[in-house]
Amino acid sequence: MQRIYFDNAATTPLDPRVAEVMMESMRSLYGNPSSIHNEGRTARAAVEHARKQAAELLGASIGEIFFTSGGTESNNMVLKCAVRDLGVTRIISSPLEHHCVLHAADTLQRTGLAERVLVRVDAKGQPDMGHIQSLLKEERAGRTLVSLMLANNEIGTLIDLAEVGSLCKEHGALFHSDTVQAIGYYPFNLEELPVDFITGSAHKFHGPKGVGFVYINSEHTLKPFMDGGAQERNMRGGTENIAGIQGMAAALRLAHEEMDSRRAAIQGIRDYFKSKLEQHFDGLEFNGDPANGHYKLLSVGFPPSPKAELLLLNLDIAGISVSGGSACSSGADAGSHVIHALKGDDPRKTIRFSFSHHNTREEVDKAISQLIKIIPAGQPAG
Ligand code: PLP
Repeated sequence: MQRIYFDNAATTPLDPRVAEVMMESMRSLYGNPSSIHNEGRTARAAVEHARKQAAELLGASIGEIFFTSGGTESNNMVLKCAVRDLGVTRIISSPLEHHCVLHAADTLQRTGLAERVLVRVDAKGQPDMGHIQSLLKEERAGRTLVSLMLANNEIGTLIDLAEVGSLCKEHGALFHSDTVQAIGYYPFNLEELPVDFITGSAHKFHGPKGVGFVYINSEHTLKPFMDGGAQERNMRGGTENIAGIQGMAAALRLAHEEMDSRRAAIQGIRDYFKSKLEQHFDGLEFNGDPANGHYKLLSVGFPPSPKAELLLLNLDIAGISVSGGSACSSGADAGSHVIHALKGDDPRKTIRFSFSHHNTREEVDKAISQLIKIIPAGQPAG
């Protein structure tokens, strides 16, 4: 059975061209970038070339890009280092953030290092700007870090980075955005964006797993997150993942070169899928704001029923991979903190469909006909 993969917000398949770059890197660049001999210098040059490529693509300077093991590490690094090194005593975030941001902020609060405040969000998942403003106006000792994701990984809602960043600047607050779902899908010009920190993860844009980056605006100096050698300009000890770093740079380059055509393809597939769903099923709810949200993602609430309850499992058996909310690290479909924050105890079954430029209309047609078999069409899904 030819499987259909509609879970590209969880992760994306590695681009074969990226795999080639990585194979060549692993074959030939075995030197340690910290060694001063020829092999070491060659490996160092490859890492620095990748950094230059990534920085150029994002409109950052080379000294502002630090390689990490991915989005989780990058987001932890920002929150924890900002508290330790930049005098941050309060983190304003949203209940819709990825767990790596929410749990890092929780840890900081639990250990008494910073206060965590969650901003109100509306039904589409947009943060309440008035609430942020009133929080930022409060007189208090210490700095505030605002941490709001650009594109929500479960419902696709996109925030206005420039608007939030300008508000933070106005009030002297730092601004971090988890941009893991947006890197490689939207253009960035960090030179002009009022952000202090953003983060990325290669496996979300057809690069390898276990490698990512953090952008730290050159105004800020952080102490090492990982103690050890002086790698990553003393920010993160440990021998560099050369093949991963080169793979990420290649994936980012391809994502930018092909951004417009990929976007048109993905959006076309997503919209086609949405129209087919609407044609065949009654009573669906689309979470977030599909018309203005991330074009790769559609979060659908199916009316409650025993059939809907087993939808994820039955789609998997039918050869279709989707997610219930987000990919859960425990492997269990434990319900979504994002849907819960938006809708309370929602009896609907939420399924996240997320697409890539590899998907086709034929796959959509097959998925719809499987859905019709699981939940009979032409009648309310309940
Ligand atoms: N932030 C968001 C919005 C994500 O979707 C993910 C991945 O699920 C992460 C952070 C974590 O990234 P990584 O898997 O590279 O640790």
